[in-house]
Amino acid sequence: MSTLVSPPLPPLSAALATPALVPVAVQTPTHSGLGELLSYACERPLAPGTLVRVPLGARDVLGVVWEGVAELPPGRSARPVSGVLDGIAPLDAHWRRLVAFAARYYQRSLGEIALAALPPQLRDLGPEQLARRLRRPAAKAGAGAAENTTPLIALSTEQQSAIAQINVHPGPFLLFGSTGSGKTEVYLRCVQEALDANADAQALVMVPEINLTPQLQERFTARFGADSVVSLHSGMTNPQRLKSWLAAHSGAARIVLGTRLAVFASLPGLKLIVVDEEHDASYKQQEGARYSARDLAIWRGREQHAKVILGSATPSLESWYASRPATEDDPGGRYLRLEMPSRIASGDNAGSLPVLRVVNMNHQPRRTVFSAPLLAALQQRVERGEQCMILLNRRGYAPVLHCADCDWKSDCPHCSAHQVFHRIDRTLRCHHCGYSVRVPRACPGCGSPDITAIGQGTEQLEEQLSLLLAGVLRPDGQPAKVARIDTDTTRLKGTLETQLAQVHSGEIDVLIGTQMVAKGHDFRRITLVAAVQPDGALFSSDFRAPERLFALLLQASGRAGRDAQYVAAQGSRSEMWLQTFHPEHAIVAALRQHDYPAFAAQQLQERRDAAMPPFAFQALVRADARTQEVAQGFLQAASDAARAHALAGLEHITLYPPVPLTIQRVANVERAQMLLESPSRTALQRFLAAWQPLLHATRSQPEHKSLVRWLVDVDPLAI
Ligand code: ADP
Ligand code: ZN
Ligand code: ZN
Repeated sequence: MSTLVSPPLPPLSAALATPALVPVAVQTPTHSGLGELLSYACERPLAPGTLVRVPLGARDVLGVVWEGVAELPPGRSARPVSGVLDGIAPLDAHWRRLVAFAARYYQRSLGEIALAALPPQLRDLGPEQLARRLRRPAAKAGAGAAENTTPLIALSTEQQSAIAQINVHPGPFLLFGSTGSGKTEVYLRCVQEALDANADAQALVMVPEINLTPQLQERFTARFGADSVVSLHSGMTNPQRLKSWLAAHSGAARIVLGTRLAVFASLPGLKLIVVDEEHDASYKQQEGARYSARDLAIWRGREQHAKVILGSATPSLESWYASRPATEDDPGGRYLRLEMPSRIASGDNAGSLPVLRVVNMNHQPRRTVFSAPLLAALQQRVERGEQCMILLNRRGYAPVLHCADCDWKSDCPHCSAHQVFHRIDRTLRCHHCGYSVRVPRACPGCGSPDITAIGQGTEQLEEQLSLLLAGVLRPDGQPAKVARIDTDTTRLKGTLETQLAQVHSGEIDVLIGTQMVAKGHDFRRITLVAAVQPDGALFSSDFRAPERLFALLLQASGRAGRDAQYVAAQGSRSEMWLQTFHPEHAIVAALRQHDYPAFAAQQLQERRDAAMPPFAFQALVRADARTQEVAQGFLQAASDAARAHALAGLEHITLYPPVPLTIQRVANVERAQMLLESPSRTALQRFLAAWQPLLHATRSQPEHKSLVRWLVDVDPLAI
């Protein structure tokens, strides 16, 4: 085996000794003003995609040889490439095009995206360490694909018809299937067919959350054998990530399961991409390069001739609109919509969806947290040995402490937000900057001992419900057990797995959690799900809030009654409970009917009337500074510069004035943003490309020196 990092070969004869210049993508500091690609000298030709080590300043860094011509700073001669990673095949043209597209589209540098897409150890390990790592035997190639270790279940007619369509159409597909309709089984079959059709074929399956990958991985390894499947997500150790990445890159792994970062995996044989729960916000990276893995998956599929399946019970309005059927005066969307409305049938109570129970909180005593009918339902379920889930998207004990005498509130000194009361360790903690103090004994404002917690978080629900259910016994005579799962209880590695296992094993009767528990989990014995305070999201200023709330509630209700046989055997009926002050709200009616299409139609009409996505395209420019004045000043100057230069595409763009963010100060940094909108994606892209140099130039003007940072967010999720 060749050593991993070889010095560039000496020339065959002195006559050929003129070293060639190779363009290399390296991770240059953002906004460093360095070009996209740097030039290095090498005495042998290097194919694009080759991984190299090159000197940058005083360091030696990882780089990727690129195509094209590199520029040399005037008067400088190129430094030589210091090593070539011969042990790793060059990254192919598909991968390089994906990276180049993402860099262009999301307004980042090529080197930043390229290097961030590689496993950290490739950058960090020294050449010898890396060589040693590579010498370890890789997973057996290929063999795993047909290794079906579980008997196949008979497909439902809806599943069969979806798969038949996927086989004959090029896609992309939107698989619109109710929770529990068997979407995962469809993915498994499509992966199977893709791998069987071609010995080099690979599939990429993406899920929104790290904590959902173990479950899915189990199903995939049971079907395809452990050798064929690797995971890629940020919760893995760096050595694991390198190993998975190499297995995918070499083709040894036929299936990659991962979170959003997996969209950049090198997959030379890629034939199928699945994006499960495609509506989920976590597909959008929220720092650095703010890419959407779902949107990149669509682009990648088209470029690499891989089929793409987006799946959801509550699609994003973008994907829903993109999959609209053709009508007389509309050619229809770019995606093909496939529908699986029914839950997997079994017996009389054939996989019915949960019944919605609405508690009108206007008729409940003031400050009711658990209404009497909900409490009675919970008690009844526990006594029958069934499980319940309570959803509240607010962790901690109470969102704020308040002094009735002087109106003091537990505000974070560094943010425009309250510090949340956590009773368990008696702290006030800011969920934005992390600043934490001990709970004061008396009001810091006036010394009054009369400070009270206002509102509820999951910690308080757990405490209250444990009291309310004290004395309630399960069929085995044990007292009811209430537990909570949120990011506070799962901070330690492995605790989430343990807690989830306790739910699955039936140890826990009532599970209280944030949205973290609402998604994807296949809890078999949960028959009741309740959202106790969903109202906040009904009147949010974010135009996507209703869409997110509907998805969350429908997903949550999808946790109930997943095992139709169990529900039927119990003589039970699965239920979704909502406690709301607005029972007449359109979302409630749509939830009652499990009618996503009606909800989507109503939302799309509003969006169309207001010319909002998907009928318009948006980008945000964010600026952070010590004062709002500086932050907004930069944005205004950049906006003025665009007008002064009459930039290409400006006539198709609406540039809104700079405004503070909803939470305008975090960790003593003032945040402002400016919205750009256009009916044309192309016009917006053209404008952003032309504008970028002006943004850099504005930033380097002396009056904007004190700006902390700025960034562009293309297709932002939250405004
Ligand atoms: P979804 O991903 O749409 O929520 P799943 O694929 O997880 O649904 O399917 C829900 C449950 O139904 C799973 O336990 C799965 O094993 C089972 N299932 C899926 N398809 C079938 C089928 N054709 N026959 C019987 N059970 C099925
Ligand atoms: Zn006070
Ligand atoms: Zn804070």
